[in-house]
Amino acid sequence: MSLIEQYPLHFYNSLSKQKEVFKPLVEGRVGMYVCGPTVYSDVHLGNVRTFLSFDIIFRYLKFLGYKVRYVRNITDVGHLVGDADEGEDKIAKKARLEAIEPMEVVQKYTNGFHDVMQIFNIQPPSIEPTATGHLIEQIEFIKKIIDNGFAYEKDGSVYFNVRKYNDTHQYGELSGRNIDDMISNTRALTGQDQKSDPLDFALWKKAEAGHLMHWPSPWGQGFPGWHLECSAMSTKYLGETFDIHGGGMDLKFPHHEAEIAQNKGCSHHGGANYWIHGNMLTVNGRKMAKSEGNGFTPEELITGNHKLLERGYSPMTVRFFMLQSHYASTLDFSNEALQAAEKGCKRLMASFQLIEKLAPAGTGKISEEKSSELKNIVNQALLDLSDDFNTAKAIASLFEISSKINIYYQNPAELTEIDSDTFEYVINMFKSIIADVLGLVAENESSGNNHLLDGTVQLLINLRKEAKFSKNYALSDKIRDDLKTVGIQLKDEKGGETSYTID
Ligand code: AMP
Ligand code: ZN
Repeated sequence: MSLIEQYPLHFYNSLSKQKEVFKPLVEGRVGMYVCGPTVYSDVHLGNVRTFLSFDIIFRYLKFLGYKVRYVRNITDVGHLVGDADEGEDKIAKKARLEAIEPMEVVQKYTNGFHDVMQIFNIQPPSIEPTATGHLIEQIEFIKKIIDNGFAYEKDGSVYFNVRKYNDTHQYGELSGRNIDDMISNTRALTGQDQKSDPLDFALWKKAEAGHLMHWPSPWGQGFPGWHLECSAMSTKYLGETFDIHGGGMDLKFPHHEAEIAQNKGCSHHGGANYWIHGNMLTVNGRKMAKSEGNGFTPEELITGNHKLLERGYSPMTVRFFMLQSHYASTLDFSNEALQAAEKGCKRLMASFQLIEKLAPAGTGKISEEKSSELKNIVNQALLDLSDDFNTAKAIASLFEISSKINIYYQNPAELTEIDSDTFEYVINMFKSIIADVLGLVAENESSGNNHLLDGTVQLLINLRKEAKFSKNYALSDKIRDDLKTVGIQLKDEKGGETSYTID
C-alpha cells in the first residue's frame, strides 16, 4: 500500500470551512499555487512563517508520493500602498525614494528573498513567475472578463463590477463576508475615483503622468491590478481548476476573494478546489508587520541586533519554533519560546548522531509488544501530519522516539528485544520526517550542512555589525576562516556567549 493510501490526507479547506479528505484532480498529482512576496522591502519573520507553512505542505505532499507542481509568484508590480486601488505602487515608491530603477528594487529584494528562503531551508517552488513577465496573460484575462460582462472600462482603467457579479455569483464566499455589510462599511467615492461603485476593484489602472511602471494595453498605458496576476498565472500554469491555493490569512480578503471572482468572471471556474490559509506570527499579540515596527528581518534575528531580541538565534531554531505550532494557529514571538525551541531542536537532532552508535536491534528475544509500540509512535506522527499537516503533534511523537533512542543507547538490552525490520522502518521514517518533511538539519561542524551557515555568514558580512550567538551555534573551521578573511573577529566572552565583532 502506498503512503498516500496508508495515510490519507485531510485538511481544513478555507473555502468550505471544514476539514475535507483531499482528492486531487488527477490521481497522484497536485497543483498548488501560493501567493509570493511583494519585492519592495526585506522579508520579515512573519513572511517567513507563511512560506515555511507551505514549504511543509509541499514537502509532505512529495513525501507521501504525490508529484507536485508548486507555483509561487513574485509580485513586482501592481501592489499599491494601502492594499487597495489608490496610492502609489509599493515598488515604484521605493524606486523613487532610493532614486533607482523599479527593476533594481525588484532584483534586490527578490535576491534577498531567495537568500532568506535558503537560510531557512525552504525549498524553491517548481515555477516562480513574475507579474511583469505575464502582462499579455493578464490583459487577455481582463478582455474575457469584459466580454462576459463583469468588468467595465472607465477613463483608461478597467474595474471589476462586484454587484453585477454578485447577482449571479456569491462575492464573499471565501471570506464569509456579506455584500450588504461590505456596502455599509465602504467609504463613499471621492471625486477622484473613476470607478462607478466603491465595491469595485481595479483590474487595470491607467498610468497617470509620472507613473514609473506602465505598459501598453487596449485601454491605453497602464498597469495591472494587484489581484489579477495570481488569477492569470495560476490559470496559465495550473489550469482553470486546480488543487490547492494558499497564502497568509491576511490575504483572504480582498486579495483571494477578488481572485475567485476574477476566475469565475473569466472562465466560470473558481480556480482552486482547496484553499489553505496560514496564520500570523505576532509580537505581544499584534501581527508582525513592517509598519508596526515589530517586524524584524531574518538578519536581525540571526545577529540579535533588534530591540526585541535578547540575542541571536539560528535559522533551524526558528524553523523548529515555528513548526511547534499548527500553521492555522497564531504564533506569538518571544525570546523564552525561542530559547526553549533551541534546546528542543538540539535534543531532537542529537538523536540523529546517537542512532549511528546504537547496538544492532533484534538480537535477543523479540518482544512483539515493544516492537509494535515503537512502530505505533511513528505511525502516529504520520497520522498527525496527514491530519491538517499537524507538525506540532508530529514533533511530540518524534520526541517520544528520541527518548527511546536514548534508552536504547544507555541500555542496549532494550534494543535487542525490538524486531530489526521494525526498528529499521521506524528509524528510516524518523530520519525522513525530520529531514525531508520538517526540513530540519543539524547546524554543527560535523553535519556537513555548511551551505546554510554560509548564507548566514554572508548576511553578517553584508551587515558588518556585531552579532551575538549562543555557543550552541557552532561554526565550522572553514566558516571561521571565511569570517577572518573578511575581517570579522571572533572573540570569546564570559557568560556562555561568543560575540563576533566586525571591523
Ligand atoms: P506580502 O509581501 O506583504 O504580500 O506578504 C507575503 C506573505 O507573507 C503573505 O502571504 C502574507 O500573508 C504573509 N504575512 C505577512 N505578515 C505576516 C505575519 N505577521 N505572519 C505570517 N504571515 C505574514
Ligand atoms: Zn496572490
